[in-house]
Amino acid sequence: MYKKQLVILGGGFAGVILAQKLLCTRMAYDVTLVDKNNYFSFTPMIVETVSGTNNPYNIVQPLRQIFNHKINIVKETVRGVDLDRKLVRLQKGTLHYDILIMTLGSIVEYYGIPGAKKYSLPLRTVENGIEMRRRIINAFETGKSGPDHTFIVIGGGPTGVELAGEVEGLISNELRKQFPRVKSKVILVEKNNQMLVHSEPYISKKATEILKRKNIELLLNRKVIEIKKDSIVLDTGTIRTTNVFWAAGMRASEVRIVPEPKKDKMNRIIVDEQFKIPGHKDVYVIGDMASYIDPRIKKPFHMAAQVAEKEAFHLAKQLCGGYTKPFVFKEQGFLVSIGRFDGVASMLGIKFTGFPAWFAWRTIYLFKLRSLRKKIRVAYDWTISLFYERDTSEI
Ligand SMILES: Cc1cc2nc3c(=O)[nH]c(=O)nc-3n(C[C@H](O)[C@H](O)[C@H](O)COP(=O)(O)OP(=O)(O)OC[C@H]3O[C@@H](n4cnc5c(N)ncnc54)[C@H](O)[C@@H]3O)c2cc1C
Repeated sequence: MYKKQLVILGGGFAGVILAQKLLCTRMAYDVTLVDKNNYFSFTPMIVETVSGTNNPYNIVQPLRQIFNHKINIVKETVRGVDLDRKLVRLQKGTLHYDILIMTLGSIVEYYGIPGAKKYSLPLRTVENGIEMRRRIINAFETGKSGPDHTFIVIGGGPTGVELAGEVEGLISNELRKQFPRVKSKVILVEKNNQMLVHSEPYISKKATEILKRKNIELLLNRKVIEIKKDSIVLDTGTIRTTNVFWAAGMRASEVRIVPEPKKDKMNRIIVDEQFKIPGHKDVYVIGDMASYIDPRIKKPFHMAAQVAEKEAFHLAKQLCGGYTKPFVFKEQGFLVSIGRFDGVASMLGIKFTGFPAWFAWRTIYLFKLRSLRKKIRVAYDWTISLFYERDTSEI
């Protein structure tokens, strides 16, 4: 019997959860998952690979081990989609589909700032986390005083705030002990007049207090004009540095789709209330790549793992049982860890900060990891890093 070819592009939060849910229902689809990597990345914990409180292998999971031959896995880069001919264009060859779900996530947005892509390092992948850590350690081992020991994080959103906290944690907990004469500083640059601008004022205020307490220099209301090899030019002046870390923006992943669908200003594909591209009844987009207008607030959701997960659950139900209720998203909470033992949180209407927020961050994300083996490994590494020094090998 011919089974319909259901192709999922992207093995991230949305793609993996959707494929798992479709399996549970034993649908009459032949499911193929395409990703350029052979593993799933648990992005919320990437930041911990910078400070070394988490091992990079703990937060990735091979797709073939997740699915154990139950679906087809294709490790390939998607180049484009021909909606009229129902074809996915891969780097090598093509793939036919009857039903297509696009979940290719997002990429870094540099806003066309000169030098930003060339001279800053983004925090998007596990490899980025490892490279950042290596650069920081190398700066202490071989760098010259001044520019090499000035670490600048661009972007005061959740990723930038967490990153500044982890960079400072690596320096103050380990490197400063090993290099007591080195004078270093961590600077966080934000273009708005407050950190975590999209969160509640109390949370933003508390995050600012914690960052200041950790001696992270905060530059608010500053625009990045240019990044050079050994400096960064802000609208208020130039700072000499060779270490700029970019956490300032995202846009939806780019693949060539013909005919081209409508997109929003973040390059996300505009979808209808069933996550379909209007005019193409068998093509769905979810996760960071989709611009689904929330009927209540008349705006698209922000790019977040919790949105991608919920959209995947909803679409799986829709594909299995003809579930047609519009998607409604209720934020589960907002959690930001800021270095060791600190953080801010807002959950179920309760706001809390400091150690309880940090503990909640760890507990909730540990629970959210998708494999028991990884949960045990992460819990073990966290425990070890509480009592022993972190490894500062420059790998
Ligand atoms: C450092 C960091 C920390 C984050 N922390 C949080 C957090 O704490 N809480 C939260 O809610 N959200 C967080 N996010 C956001 C969250 O990761 C995303 O919103 C979520 O991953 C979106 O899910 P997705 O399935 O749409 O995309 P992704 O999970 O990014 O998956 C996309 C997949 O597509 C693959 N892919 C992309 N392009 C191609 C191509 N051309 N060909 C083949 N494969 C391709 C990628 O390899 C990837 O596996 C964080 C993101 C980052 C980068």
